[in-house]
Amino acid sequence: MILYDPALIMDFQEYGIMLPIAPDRGKRILESLGKNYVPSARGDTMPYPGPVFSITDALVHSGSNNMLTTREDLERIHCKEFIASLYGGSSQKNRLKTAMFTTYELIDSHGCPNRYEPQRAKKPLSELFQTILVQVSGTWLACCLALAEGPGFCYYLGGGMHHARFDSGSGFCLVNDIAIAAVKILNEKPLRLIWIIDLDVHKGDGTAELISFARQREELLIPAISHEKPVQDGTAKEKPCILTLSIHMARGWPLDTENLRVSAKDRAPNISSDIDIGIESGEEKEYTLRLAQGIRELERLSAALYLNKQNNVKPDLVMVVDGADTYEHDELPSSNLLNLTLEQCLERDNYVYRYLMDRSIPSAWIQSGGYGSRAWEPPAYFLQGVR
Ligand SMILES: [Zn+2]
Repeated sequence: MILYDPALIMDFQEYGIMLPIAPDRGKRILESLGKNYVPSARGDTMPYPGPVFSITDALVHSGSNNMLTTREDLERIHCKEFIASLYGGSSQKNRLKTAMFTTYELIDSHGCPNRYEPQRAKKPLSELFQTILVQVSGTWLACCLALAEGPGFCYYLGGGMHHARFDSGSGFCLVNDIAIAAVKILNEKPLRLIWIIDLDVHKGDGTAELISFARQREELLIPAISHEKPVQDGTAKEKPCILTLSIHMARGWPLDTENLRVSAKDRAPNISSDIDIGIESGEEKEYTLRLAQGIRELERLSAALYLNKQNNVKPDLVMVVDGADTYEHDELPSSNLLNLTLEQCLERDNYVYRYLMDRSIPSAWIQSGGYGSRAWEPPAYFLQGVR
C-alpha cells in the first residue's frame, strides 16, 4: 500500500528556500501507477502495490485513532531545548528561524544568503514547521500500516529526514522522522527489534547519532558489534533494539571535510551506523552485492543480540529509507559521487523488497532524498513492479 497526502507536499520555494526538490514527485509517482489520488477515496481496487491512504484514512485503517506525532514523541529522541525552540511560538521566533537557517544551509560562511530568497516567499518559515510535523506523522503511520497488515508493505511518499541530529537540524532535515517513528512504535507496540536500512546516497548520520544517544540513555539494547565484546544477556528480553545500516557514497558527506575534522568523534557526522557501507565512484556495479553482505551482517548482529546462534532472529519491522538521490539523473550537486542507473536502483530496491517479503517481515519504506525533474522515476518503476 501507499501513503500519500496532498497536505504533505512541501514546496520549499514557497518559503523562499530554493531547493531543487520537485514538490509534485509523489503525484508523478501515483500517476505513473495509474492512480489518480483523491483524498479519502478508500477501497482503491488496484491489486498492486495496493491502496493509497491519506493520513486520515491511515489513522483509521491502522487502528491508530489516538493522535498524530506529538511534542512528547519528538522530545523522546531529540534534545528538549531544541524542540522547545521549534514549538516556542512568537517568543522563540528567532530561534526557529535560526534552526531553519542551519537546517537548510540558508547562510553561507561569509554570512550571505545561500539558496535563500525571502522576497519570493509566500509563506512564513514557521508554517513550514507545521508541515514537517505532518511529514513526521506520516513515517510513523507507514510503520503502523505495515504492522497492521501482518507482514505488510507500506511505501510512504514523504519523510526521510535522516540528517537531523540530537540538538539541531542538518542537511535539509529539521527533525528526524525515522528515529522518532522507530522509538514511538517501540513505546506503543510489543516489538523487540527494528532494522533501519538507509539507501539514501548520503550517510544516515543523524539517525546513527540519535540511536546511539538513546542507547547511552539505556533506552535501547546495545548490539555486540565486535566478536570479542560480550553479548548482553540479562536485559535482552526486556529492552528493544534498533539496528542501523547505511549504504552511501564513500565521500562527499558532509559537504566539506573541515566539518569532519572539527566534529567530535561521538557526534554526527563522525558517528557510525551499526553497519556503514561506503561505495566509491566507479563501484556502482557492486552496490547490491555489498548491500546484501551488509544485510547478512545485520542478521548476525540480530542473532548475537538475542543469544540465538541459529541465525534466524527476524526483525519485527524494517524501515527502508529509499533515497532516490543515488540515481544518475539526480540534480543535487552533492549527490553526484555515486550514480546508479535506473536498472541499478531497481535491482537495489527489488533485492530489499524480495528479502523482506520472502521472510514475511513488515516494512515501511520512506521516500527520502531525490532532487530534480526525474527524481520520481526510481520509486515509480520500483512500485510498478511490486508483487
Ligand atoms: Zn540524500
